[in-house]
Amino acid sequence: MTIPVDRTANTRIDSSAIADGRMTNVPSDHMFIAEYTNREWRKARVQPYRAIPLAPFALGLHYAQAVFEGMKAYRLENSSIAVFRIQSHFQRFNRSLERMEMPPVPEDLFYSAINTFVDTDRDWVPPGPESAFYIRPLMFASEERMGLKSADEFLFIVVGGPFRPLYSKPLRVKIERKYSRAAPGGTGSAKCAGNYAAAMYPTQRAREEGFDQVIWTDAASHTRIEESGTMNVAFIEDKSFNEGQQTEPVIVTPALSDTILDGITRSSVITLARDSGIKVEEKSITVSELQQGLESGTIREVFGIGTAASLAPIGAVSIDGIEHSLPYNENSIVYQLRKQLNDVRYGKSEDLYGWMNEVGVVEV
Ligand SMILES: *Cc1c(COP(=O)(O)O)cnc(C)c1O
Repeated sequence: MTIPVDRTANTRIDSSAIADGRMTNVPSDHMFIAEYTNREWRKARVQPYRAIPLAPFALGLHYAQAVFEGMKAYRLENSSIAVFRIQSHFQRFNRSLERMEMPPVPEDLFYSAINTFVDTDRDWVPPGPESAFYIRPLMFASEERMGLKSADEFLFIVVGGPFRPLYSKPLRVKIERKYSRAAPGGTGSAKCAGNYAAAMYPTQRAREEGFDQVIWTDAASHTRIEESGTMNVAFIEDKSFNEGQQTEPVIVTPALSDTILDGITRSSVITLARDSGIKVEEKSITVSELQQGLESGTIREVFGIGTAASLAPIGAVSIDGIEHSLPYNENSIVYQLRKQLNDVRYGKSEDLYGWMNEVGVVEV
């Protein structure tokens, strides 16, 4: 699918500032936009980044029929540009849309939107070792209407910009025992706007207590670990598999459910770890199991996993007011995993799983 491009006459780019990280977390010059009306996608185009007109009665603003994705394009060793796991993001976007009673985006529209947008702004993609171009696909109800209904008109937008990981030093987190992010049968496994709005009040209260993030627990009993704000969580636990044998480090992470977002970084880390011989257990983990593991020292690393933060070590976990510290150094397994993942993303190791989708390549 060919998408028309209206290039800006007033670029804001400063290439040396992008290369050295001074120009980060700002929108790039362009954006993709398409309109859904009368059951069809229309007017798909790349245009200069700018504010969009929206009716005050646009349904999405009132009733939160709004879904997004977060993905990254990387500048590879050979200086080509590739988007990480575009297919998984496309599939998850459509699963989220279905849950929010929104129309699917066809595969060729999604791929062409991302590719044309990133190709147009390819000079905005910073080099590694940690930086990347963040891509934010977004769809919401734009229909102007008084009164609650499922909308018939939507906008699909893709914006982005150069980006550096959110968390550089180990995080301090609190196990949340009162508020909930997601309930069984709810929307926790969809990347929909309302989930994040509902998380802000409890997260802000935790920030006031000096925490960077909360780790959510299940809504019914607040006894099982779920995930963090925009990250899945995982632990490194020492386990022995035969009586009297030496222990080996195992990655333990809560099993997916309809209250946990199916993170693509999580699934990538699981694949890479298993292929390099590290055992991974996806299972239900209670707060008291975590507490015991932290007290006895068998749980020796806790980390968050997500596109924005990559793999972020957690240096302190507070459970019911008692804080447990975890030391980190360059031998920590989280850093090995991050390096392994980054080597694929930046084209330093072979792309064994077809995760890297090169931008600007014309299909024949
Ligand atoms: C986006 C997100 C994640 C991480 O998913 P990735 O695909 O790895 O970026 C985890 N939890 C929540 C709630 C999220 O919104």
